[in-house]
Amino acid sequence: MRIAEIAVFSHRMPVVGGTYRIASSEVDALDSTLVRITADDGTVGWGETCPVGPTYQPHHALGARAALAELCPSLLGRDPSRLRGLHRTMDGSLAGHRYAKAAVDIAAHDLVARHRGVRVADLLGGPLVDAVPSYYATGVGEPDAVAETAAARVAAGYRRIQVKIAGRPVETDVEVVHRVWERLEGTGARLVVDGNRSLTTSDVVRLSQQCRDVPLVLEQPCDTLAELEVVRDRLAHPVHLDEAGTDLATVVRAIGRGVVDGFAMKVTRLGGLVPMATFRDVCEATHVPHTVDDAWGGDVVAAACVQLAATVDPRLLEGVWIAQPYVEQHLDPDHGPEVVDGRIALPEGPGLGVVPRADLLGEPVAVHG
Ligand SMILES: [Mg+2]
Repeated sequence: MRIAEIAVFSHRMPVVGGTYRIASSEVDALDSTLVRITADDGTVGWGETCPVGPTYQPHHALGARAALAELCPSLLGRDPSRLRGLHRTMDGSLAGHRYAKAAVDIAAHDLVARHRGVRVADLLGGPLVDAVPSYYATGVGEPDAVAETAAARVAAGYRRIQVKIAGRPVETDVEVVHRVWERLEGTGARLVVDGNRSLTTSDVVRLSQQCRDVPLVLEQPCDTLAELEVVRDRLAHPVHLDEAGTDLATVVRAIGRGVVDGFAMKVTRLGGLVPMATFRDVCEATHVPHTVDDAWGGDVVAAACVQLAATVDPRLLEGVWIAQPYVEQHLDPDHGPEVVDGRIALPEGPGLGVVPRADLLGEPVAVHG
């Protein structure tokens, strides 16, 4: 089996209810990039990468498509089942840009699994569960409004609430944390406070000290791993790394140096399911908890997250965030992953279990092969 054609699509996804705000940016629509790989026997696989705006990470939608234009010609004629070989081929034609390569990686997994009549989770070692827990992330907001949203989502079945903070006086963030915990305490729900790398080191210490009676996890409160190392001993809470967990080498170093207690990990940031499976195994070997997410995206990337997450030791899986509750439309209305009672069912096979509907996606913006 050989790769005969790679088509690239752009798809705009409006955010439900208007603007979603995180510390560094606001988004009202997402520009997702989808990849369709067709093999010479006609088997098709889908991949996706979708930066949440151009400032959340050093990723952007046009960058993904420019990177794909650079690397896709090198993939034509390659055997898609040699998944690690595809990464070597891509790395040989373009340095970096793992978030673009991830779309190819996901599409190749989908294609190979479909060819073999199995789920992507089966390629990744086999699912341990039929459904995975999700978690709900509030946008940055005022204390009462955020607390109300958090309480409503716990009532809807979520067992983990992530509250976005930063981009304003830290005193407001401290108030948000206390208001939210007043509503969550005793419900069994866990609280994560996500600074999206935007607090100063002094504000991280202040927030943690002033919330030391609240059992929360601090997610990527300040910008870099080096900043976290500076403040780590003055924090009263566990710290999970998100945006600064840029690659496997950083993950291994962060665990080895004892700087972090867990990760919020994005499949496309690491470069797809091949490196994500290695990340899963490193975390299992070191008993480090982590999420399996992506930075927004549609049904394809959501399905990829759920397929991988189903293979994670449930004791270590912190949850799977997908964009479905926040965006208006499924590209696969019949099979798109959905959060129900705070959980997401593993899509039924084969492959990722989802296929974008052609009439919703439109024409490709580029075709190679
Ligand atoms: Mg985060």
